[in-house]
Order: sequence, then structure tokens, then C-alpha cells
Amino acid sequence: MTEVSAVKKFATLKAIVVTGIISILLVLAGTVGLLVMQSNLHENVEKKQACYLDLIAFRGKLIEFEFNRHHPGANLSNIEELPGKPEEPAGVLLFMYDKLAVEMKDAGLNSLPVLHAARQNSPALLALENLELFRFELDNTIQKVDLETRGAADKLVDINHFFLFFILAILLTLSITAGWLLHNNYRQTLIPLAQLASQLKLINRNIPESIHDTAEEMKKELTETEPSSDITQITESIMSFCGDIEAKNKKLDELHIRDEKTNLYNYRHFKDRLITEVERAKSLESKVSLAMIDIDHFKRYNDAHGHIAGDHVLEILAELISSQCRATDVPSRFGGEEFAVLFPKTDSDTAREIAERLRKLISIEPFPHEQHQPEGQLTVSIGIATFPGDAADWYTLINNADRALYKAKSCGRNNVVTFASMNADSTTEG
Ligand code: GH3
Ligand code: MG
Ligand code: MG
Repeated sequence: MTEVSAVKKFATLKAIVVTGIISILLVLAGTVGLLVMQSNLHENVEKKQACYLDLIAFRGKLIEFEFNRHHPGANLSNIEELPGKPEEPAGVLLFMYDKLAVEMKDAGLNSLPVLHAARQNSPALLALENLELFRFELDNTIQKVDLETRGAADKLVDINHFFLFFILAILLTLSITAGWLLHNNYRQTLIPLAQLASQLKLINRNIPESIHDTAEEMKKELTETEPSSDITQITESIMSFCGDIEAKNKKLDELHIRDEKTNLYNYRHFKDRLITEVERAKSLESKVSLAMIDIDHFKRYNDAHGHIAGDHVLEILAELISSQCRATDVPSRFGGEEFAVLFPKTDSDTAREIAERLRKLISIEPFPHEQHQPEGQLTVSIGIATFPGDAADWYTLINNADRALYKAKSCGRNNVVTFASMNADSTTEG
């Protein structure tokens, strides 16, 4: 697969929707993860801050305790305010230490090891000689907790910055992707779609000579704009639809100009072509010949053998007539058992030769039951007239070919008569 077609494929609506959903889910998951992390960090900072404050308070109490030891009689303050109300000042310290140990553990801080060891043995915690050591350890711990609290707060700020950056990056990516999609959509979908629509509008307004050629042109124009695969599919469907219509139109055209029984051209088409060919002959100063063909004693044949057998004769005759025609000739069924053949660019003599050949061919054709015909065979009579020598227009040409046919009948049937020869005869007779 080429890069271009891969891009086209990606740009399909389905791919866009799926990618969009996956991106949104990823963004949501990332946001939720970051928010959870942020809230944990926040909670941790708060716990550390609380520890820091309690450590300061504990230090105060320790100093107060030490002071009271040196100055008996002075009262410890705030003892009553503390929960549990321990009676002994040492109890207050122990109580505060226990609370601190739990808080520090919860905040993920190292508790005070020396104090902890002394706590196991309460008198040691209260021994004067240890108080200084305790204070020293407390100060160290307070400093560490302070540093850790600041570190956690910095981390919180960092994560907030990262969160902001993450959201901005996502927004930027989404904006770029949306812009790219819009651009592609415009170039590969909207423009080709507008072209397609205008072409279809043209076809609708003015049905072209060849729908297929128009569809090909449409495809050529679209390939220049590199349409998306969806548009290519739509174009191909329209093209195949146009192809079907073209084929059906051709069939309809054929049905429109053909005679159902003989498959020769029908009278409508014959007349159109006759008018056209006479006009063309006029402008090119050429000749057009017309042969009218009539079956001899056909009524008798029908009466004796039925119309189905008669129809079969018409079909065989149509094939024989077609076999003697050139591609430019127009073999037609004039009506009933009469046929007309138009020979463009053909003079009277050539038309007569062709007609004579056809007459002979028909006379030797073994038609069913022809032995019962008056002459023992099925034959035709043919009359020929030629433009411009025998007629000045198309309907006179038909009339004069008919008159020549009548003459052929009256001369004993199974022969060919040209209108020109009739005129010559009458001149000779005159
Ligand atoms: P002629 O030699 O003088 O032409 O004699 P004819 O009997 O052929 O002439 P006529 O015009 O009297 O008869 C034409 C017959 O052609 C009448 C009709 O039965 C027959 N016919 C016309 N159309 C059809 C058709 O479509 N099928 C069949 N089977 N017969 C047809
Ligand atoms: Mg007739
Ligand atoms: Mg007849």
C-alpha cells in the first residue's frame, strides 16, 4: 500500500471516529490518573505540615517540662486542653509523643528513634539528662520534616505544572489534528463532492450524448484533486450506475427503432433516415435509392398455412434482406408484408443489381409449404426509385418506388422494376 492510499484510508470517517474515541478515552484516563496523583500528593503535604506543627508543639512541651523540672512549683499550661487530660506532666509528653509517632508513620516520616527507645521505658524519657539529647534529635527531625514538607510541596507544584502542560499538549495535538482533518476533508471530500454535484447537475439539466464519457471525464477531474477513499467509492458507484444506464439506454434505443417481429428497422426509423439521407444527398449532390419489396401472393400463403407460418416467412425474409445489405444501408419493415431498403450514395443501376441478387436468393430459398404458391415457390416483387433522378423529395421517392413495385406486380411478379426504366419505357412507347 502506498503512503498516499494509507493516508486516504486513515481519513475515512470510521477511522476518524474510532481514533477520536480512543484519544478521548486516553485523555480522560490520563487526566483521572493525574488528578488522583495530585490529590495524594496534596494529602501527603498536609500530613507532613501537620507533623511539622505537632513536632514544634512537642518541642515546646519538652522545653516547658524541662523548665518545670528546674523550677518546681510552676504550672504546665494547656494540659487541660489536651485530649485524654493526663494528670502528670510526663503523661502529657508521653501522650503527645504517641500521637506524633502515629502521625509521622502515617505521613511516611521516620519517627524519633531515641525518643522511641526512651518511650519503651517512660522514666528514661523523663530523665533530665536525656532531655537535651531529645531536644537535639527533635530539632534535627523538625529540620528534616521541614525539608521534606517543602520537597512534597514542590512536587505538588511540579505535578500541577505537568498537569497544565499535559492539558495544553493535548489541546495543541487536538487542534492540529482537527485542523489537518478539516483541511483533508475540505481538499479530499468537500471539493470533489462539489465537483461531483455540479457534474451531476449538468447531466440532470442536459442529458449528454454519452453518459459513460461524461462519467469518465468526471473521474479524470476527481483524480486530479486526490479525493478520499469514500469519494472515490461514491464516484465509482456513480460511474457504474452511469454505465448501467448507458447500456439500458442503448437497449431502449434499439427497441425504439427495431421492428419486433423481424428485428429490421421499423417505419419510424426508416422515415427519419430517409429524410436525413435525402437531405444529405441534396447537400452532397449524391444519390439515394429506395427499394420497396412485397411478397407475392402472401394472402394466399397465410390463408393456406396460417399466420404463424406467415410470420415465420417474414422472419426468414428479413434475414435474407439483411444478408444483402451493407452497413450503411437501412433494411426496414415498411408495414404488413412489405419491406423497404434504403441505399445511401447508391444509383439506380447499383440498387437494381442488389435487388436482383436478393430476389434470386429469395426465389431459391426453400420456404416451408412454398410448393403450394401459384408459381410453386415463394417470391417477392421489388420496385426501385432513386433520388434525385426519380423524385425531388422523400415522400415522392416512396410513391415512385411503390409505383415501380406495382409495375413489377403487373409484369408477372418475382421481378425487379426501376422507376427510371418505367419512364424510359413510357418515353419509348410515346
Ligand atoms: P400480391 O402478390 O398482390 O402482393 O398479393 P398479396 O396476397 O400478397 O397481397 P395482399 O395485400 O392482398 O395481401 C397481403 C397479406 O399480407 C394480407 C395479410 O394476411 C398478410 N400480412 C400482413 N401483415 C402480416 C403479418 O404481420 N403476418 C402475417 N402472417 N401476414 C401478414
Ligand atoms: Mg402488400
Ligand atoms: Mg403482397
